[in-house]
Amino acid sequence: MSFASPPLIALTDKGLFCAEGGFYIDPKCAVDVAVVTHAHSDHARRGSRQYICASSGVGLLRSRLGHKIEARGIAFGEVIQLGSVKVSLHPAGHILGSAQVRVEKDGEVWVASGDYKRDPDPSCEPFESVACDTFITEATFGTPKFSWDRNATHGQDLANWWEEAALAGKNCVLFGYSLGKAQRVLAELAPHAKRPVLIYETIVELTECYRSEGRNLAPTRELRSAIAEVEKTGEALCGEFILAPPSIKDESWASALGAFETAFASGWMHGRSHFFGGRYDRGFVLSDHADWAGLNETIAECGAKRVFVQHRNGSLVRHLRGRGIEAHPEEMLIVENFARLPGMNLRLF
Ligand SMILES: [Zn+2]
Ligand SMILES: [Zn+2]
Repeated sequence: MSFASPPLIALTDKGLFCAEGGFYIDPKCAVDVAVVTHAHSDHARRGSRQYICASSGVGLLRSRLGHKIEARGIAFGEVIQLGSVKVSLHPAGHILGSAQVRVEKDGEVWVASGDYKRDPDPSCEPFESVACDTFITEATFGTPKFSWDRNATHGQDLANWWEEAALAGKNCVLFGYSLGKAQRVLAELAPHAKRPVLIYETIVELTECYRSEGRNLAPTRELRSAIAEVEKTGEALCGEFILAPPSIKDESWASALGAFETAFASGWMHGRSHFFGGRYDRGFVLSDHADWAGLNETIAECGAKRVFVQHRNGSLVRHLRGRGIEAHPEEMLIVENFARLPGMNLRLF
């Protein structure tokens, strides 16, 4: 088949733009209509007139962008008409409500993945492959050295750490991002937790969004109230599991904890990344993005004839080309660049 010109989804200075549908995907600034793949701050930004996202992600989006935003939630798989294109959202398995965006015009299908992962995660909808002609994929961990353990038992590992520390009279402090990582840890701990997990204030409302979408999370209590008790009684915390964002590692509350061990939960812990070397007692390789095998599996499953790669695209673009798949860095989605792609020349001459 021939591909439409200009691209159905183009890269502009405001982000991915579908002119036929009159909307942006995860725009970098305020626009008229923003289709948002998920509520992380590098994808969901303030000021747009209307937001469209997966129904299960509306609460998170409001929590992040303000409760007054105009947000239209659509069910996964539900098809809506925007301008002259059909748009639907499909689970990306990244965080609750995270979506891939499928755009169809005259039988031609493009999918923009947003952030995604393939590994089991009890806190969100599992990833679904979506057949398409053109796939725009993220590649946060787009080199072969990243490979997650498919048989990982995250909940058990975290619970073991908690139990060992408690037996030694210590607390566990796990640093992870407030949205997504924190709730995944709570969901992984749900079958194991014998007492509430203490959570930092930035995690509280987001965690309630997950609960109101029916996600089963370990019981929680605000860290702030536990600290207030310490200040009243003078008795330090012991045997607690504390979840906090990495940004507050050096805040003064740490002194109220008594003895504690620290850990960081992230895909970047893989291979003892130099980013975190020595800063934490432990690392849990818990990624919210696909690893190298997951990226390649996804590209194979969607059957795309053409792939555009976002972030860290070098290795993946080379690898795909080596396998005979037409692959480009995302800059080739800029209208002027796209017009120079070989497929376009074939069609024009
Ligand atoms: Zn994300
Ligand atoms: Zn992202």
